[in-house]
Amino acid sequence: MEQTFIMIKPDGVQRGLVGEIICRFEKKGFTLKGLKLITVDRPFAEKHYQDLSAKPFFSSLVDYIISGPVVAMIWEGKNVVLTGRKIIGATNPAASEPGTIRGDFAIDIGRNVIHGSDSVESANKEAALWFPDGPVNWQSSLHSWIYE
Ligand code: UDP
Ligand code: MG
Repeated sequence: MEQTFIMIKPDGVQRGLVGEIICRFEKKGFTLKGLKLITVDRPFAEKHYQDLSAKPFFSSLVDYIISGPVVAMIWEGKNVVLTGRKIIGATNPAASEPGTIRGDFAIDIGRNVIHGSDSVESANKEAALWFPDGPVNWQSSLHSWIYE
């Protein structure tokens, strides 16, 4: 089953959005396979965002991510990478639809509350970086009520 890496950024933690965000993924029917509250250092944040290292906003992005604790998660389910991105909404909250997390809870692109992997390949890479011991191995007893 497909997995994605989701991170509630420091602004999401500070603003008390952790429960609300977890709720949206849980209610959809996805399964939580990893969860931790963690403050990361600059080299770690730079590694997570290494593909963006040439961008002009890279250093302010890294400053933002290391500014406080984040909630790192692995979520599992059919099409969870793409559907997770839809639940999160467009990168710039000004363009995120209402009903998405960024559309409902964010205004500026540099304070957009949440990260989600953009492909299965980056999901696997990011999950391995943040959860070197791997996901928690369990099966939800609701499985047959969510999947036909
Ligand atoms: N970002 C920014 N300015 C920009 C583009 C991106 O501050 O012009 C930040 C924003 O927080 C975004 C993150 O960099 O979430 C990673 O950018 P990416 O293009 O990967 O967007 P995402 O995958 O998070 O939607
Ligand atoms: Mg991205």
